[in-house]
Amino acid sequence: MTGLDSTTGTVLTIEDVARAQFDGVPLAVFGSPIAHSISPQMHNAALAQMAAADPRYAHWHYHRVEVPPARLGEALTLCAEKGFRGINLTLPHKVQVLDHIEAVDPQARALGAVNTLRLENGHYHGWNSDGYGFESAVREELGVVLPGAHVVLLGAGGAARAIGAQCLLSRCASLHIGNRSAERLTELLDLLRPLDTRGVLHGFDLAAPLPVSLAPDALIVNATSLGLHPGDPAPIALDAFTPAAAVYDTTYGSHRSLLLRNALKRGLRSANGLSMLVWQGVRSLEIWTGAHVPVKAMRTGAEEALLLRNAR
Ligand code: NDP
Repeated sequence: MTGLDSTTGTVLTIEDVARAQFDGVPLAVFGSPIAHSISPQMHNAALAQMAAADPRYAHWHYHRVEVPPARLGEALTLCAEKGFRGINLTLPHKVQVLDHIEAVDPQARALGAVNTLRLENGHYHGWNSDGYGFESAVREELGVVLPGAHVVLLGAGGAARAIGAQCLLSRCASLHIGNRSAERLTELLDLLRPLDTRGVLHGFDLAAPLPVSLAPDALIVNATSLGLHPGDPAPIALDAFTPAAAVYDTTYGSHRSLLLRNALKRGLRSANGLSMLVWQGVRSLEIWTGAHVPVKAMRTGAEEALLLRNAR
């Protein structure tokens, strides 16, 4: 890139992108705010390793772009003109982007959310790699395979939407979704109902006593934002679950959440959400390159970036 100083910590504005010349193949993540994102370090670490085997990748570079919600369309048009091969979308753009693209993968369309765009003949096509990231993460970290699993999912926001859809598409044995707000829970259940061809989807109030129908050996997934901050309470008590259960907390940061500490105390398998971020990144980079992506390099890049972020 010329016309700008590009370091891994740089946050580009739309004006920066308009002024700069991008050599090679640019990629980016759009969000607002975006300064905290570790996606550039994660992707650039994987690309560096890929470049060792195939020099073409030495000219690929992943950037971070601050895109306010009202300027998403403008940013997409500009990046298409500048030849950005791939774009990741994070808060608050995953749903709104559907107003700006025509071609959307059927799973992303069913979810109503897109986190990965690939430029084809001047236009962006959309996918969602969050569900794939979740399924790969729980298999790798907890040894849980979704087909046949009993899943207790906490939360009804964007993350829960992708995870719930993936559980149903992968034929989980049951999916119980608990949320604090009844309205948001109903919205999510309505959205997922078309994917529930076997009648395995149920909802419950997270503030009420837990339903007795929850499987004692379930995969418990925290997709609420409780756990992001060190003093946060746990979203669920684990008394009803046996050591055969497992806990996946989609939050990640400098500390271990209370939910994960409780799981450790009870001898349950547990993991935080960094692996979901890594695996969704792997899938996005596969979509952009069509090549095998080195997961280990991506994970190391993510871990190093997180350490640096937490040290600030
Ligand atoms: P949303 O804002 O869309 O949803 C937030 C969810 O958290 C809602 O269900 C909300 O419930 C619930 N919640 C918030 N505060 C409380 C509380 N005090 N008590 C109970 N429930 C609460 O956020 P996202 O879905 O985008 O993100 C949720 C979490 O998932 C975040 O921590 C985020 O970091 C993580 N995430 C991780 C990813 C990964 O790759 N590891 C990817 C995406 C997200 P209500 O409806 O009642 O408000």
